Amino acid sequence: MKELEDRIRRDGVVKSSQVLKVDSFINHQMDVELFRDMAKVWHKDFADAPINKVLTIEASGIGIAAVVATEFGVPAVFAKKSQSINLDGDVYCTKIKSFTHGRVYDVIVSKKFLGPNDHVLIVDDFLANGCAMDGLLDICRVAGATVEGIGIAVEKGFQPGGKHLRDEGYIVDSLAIVDSMDPQTNEIEFRHQ
Ligand code: 5GP
Repeated sequence: MKELEDRIRRDGVVKSSQVLKVDSFINHQMDVELFRDMAKVWHKDFADAPINKVLTIEASGIGIAAVVATEFGVPAVFAKKSQSINLDGDVYCTKIKSFTHGRVYDVIVSKKFLGPNDHVLIVDDFLANGCAMDGLLDICRVAGATVEGIGIAVEKGFQPGGKHLRDEGYIVDSLAIVDSMDPQTNEIEFRHQ
């Protein structure tokens, strides 16, 4: 998606060879018009899929998921990072290792909001090693929900998550794929798609 690539080139900051900051338009201040344009691309790309729910993980996926959900006219659900595990059995629970903090979180989704009748589009801001996505896919599997596809704003193609998910057969629709980035020059190379 050229608009997103141009914006990353203009306003993205390469913090290290592994971490790209997009705080001024995605992760802190949100350019909701850009989110709207991203949502339109996914809506077109998944036009044939019977999507009835958008799923993401807190915190940074929520803004994108909310806009995507309005484009599809369906609810958005976000997986919550939980300190206290609810033992009532009314939640799906999985463990996710955070890329940015290195910690392992328990992540939950209420059984009220995801089940076998759901056809899910999972969205997130970044795809790196795929830990967050593996956790969300695990929750969908246990819930019996069908994953229709995965929408990612920024995939870092030099990290293994995208390849691993595509090899497993998932449709991964990344709007920008960074193949390399240089913290010295702030130069970012995108994959042609
Ligand atoms: P993964 O689980 O695929 O390793 O990492 C994805 C999650 O880590 C995303 O939800 C995102 O919040 C965070 N993340 C991964 N890489 C980056 C990055 O380069 N920049 C920012 N801002 N977040 C990242």
